[in-house]
Amino acid sequence: MKAHDGMYIDGAWRPAAGRDTIPVVNPADEQIIAHVPAGTAEDVDAAVRAARAALPAWAATAPAERAARIAALRDVLVARKDEIAATITAELGAPLPFSQAVHAGAPVLVAGSYAELAASYAELAASYAFEEKVGNSTVYSEPVGVVGAITPWNYPLHQIVAKAAPALAAGCTVVLKPAEDTPLTAQLFAEAVHEAGVPAGVFNLVTGLGPVAGQVLAEHDGVDLVSFTGSTAVGKQIGATAGAAVKRVALELGGKSANVILPSADLAKAVAVGVANVMGNSGQTCSAWTRMLVHTSQYDEAVALAAEAAAKYGDRIGPLVNAKQHARVRGYIEKGVAEGARLVAGGPEAPCEQGYFVSPTVFADVTPEMTIAQEEIFGPVVSLIRYEDEDDALRIANGTVYGLAGAVWAGDEVEAVAFARRMDTGQVDINGGRFNPLAPFGGYKQSGVGRELGSHGLTEYLQTKSLQF
Ligand code: NAP
Ligand code: MG
Repeated sequence: MKAHDGMYIDGAWRPAAGRDTIPVVNPADEQIIAHVPAGTAEDVDAAVRAARAALPAWAATAPAERAARIAALRDVLVARKDEIAATITAELGAPLPFSQAVHAGAPVLVAGSYAELAASYAELAASYAFEEKVGNSTVYSEPVGVVGAITPWNYPLHQIVAKAAPALAAGCTVVLKPAEDTPLTAQLFAEAVHEAGVPAGVFNLVTGLGPVAGQVLAEHDGVDLVSFTGSTAVGKQIGATAGAAVKRVALELGGKSANVILPSADLAKAVAVGVANVMGNSGQTCSAWTRMLVHTSQYDEAVALAAEAAAKYGDRIGPLVNAKQHARVRGYIEKGVAEGARLVAGGPEAPCEQGYFVSPTVFADVTPEMTIAQEEIFGPVVSLIRYEDEDDALRIANGTVYGLAGAVWAGDEVEAVAFARRMDTGQVDINGGRFNPLAPFGGYKQSGVGRELGSHGLTEYLQTKSLQF
């Protein structure tokens, strides 16, 4: 796999300050496919200085011109869709049949969704009212400044676009530290930014380890806003660092979302879509509906349907991203068994000798207090929890520290909406509603602070100034 041996700083690929590198592993076969430089404090500092130097001119650039650069970026992402899909497959992993399907069919969709996101910010930048009259005041929306973006590996390009596109639209400049497991996608993105004619220093990339490059970036005096997506543990640390420096912070953290199936729902459909929601991306989705809540009268039927749905996946799901996540997820499955939950599909045994695979797993007889019902597993594991009535369902749905997403299924929308409005969570899909890239995405409670996507995502990168006349 093609990889740059430097950092993208101030509009060019420059040698890294240190000599350490990070191996990039294909989790499907455990082979090293490339090496990228491990960024140091010196690299981060150079990138932040470049971003700061580029800030005044980019902030002063007309929104329509910023929009034009983001539209050009969208076009590059579309033109390079096959390369993007192949890179994501290689560093995030996928079994051969799935990989072939992805190579054959999905690239257009995958790249299209990133491109769509970039396009929506191009439109927003062009149409957003950066100036508003309030009584005798004019209120200006101005860019927050230099953004330190720290992203995870689970949707490698989406997570980058969801930060970089609105930041650039707002007139901010960016330093990105992507996940160590998926740096090649980030390098491709930097190439795309370059090709799109974004001025030097407006976007910069430093690959490296979280506790080194990531931490230095979050702590850097030259960074005005830290936008982080990843684990709640690291998010708490970053929030504390930002708080101490009175720096803006946006945190997109973990989830333990509930899929609430009310008795009036189409049970078969709700269970099938619910299982598919978790198995997609091998369960490595922060908003996955990992807890399925079913009324006691339909519980046994739901368990049978879920086991059947999971078994159908067989070996069609990809591996987990790395050895650590592989061990962690299997550990959670063992813990579920030890705490008395009943395995009805899958289990902790690795289904293949090579690659970080876990079988699609379904647990029945899960109680709300069990570890597997409380902690984010980040693997292909669904837990079916029984409820007695609606209040019981609500108590269970809201009974974790998380509140990122969820689903409600009911015979009619009014009933589902009434339940959804009582859930402590940032996003709820009603009867299988589609993902909307313009809807604000983010968490209640410990799932985060701030919102990404759409106009709400744009305002994260703006601050206001009022002039009184
Ligand atoms: P993570 O460790 O929180 O990593 C997210 C990003 O933060 C990565 O770029 C990481 O770099 C960086 N980072 C790590 N430690 C840091 C520090 N001390 N200071 C600054 N940056 C730091 O998450 P992960 O290791 O990728 O996955 C672990 C868990 O995170 C998962 O099991 C899941 O619970 C959660 N997760 C949530 C989401 C989400 O979208 N909400 C996405 C992925 C993971 P490295 O890559 O070098 O570690
Ligand atoms: Mg990590």
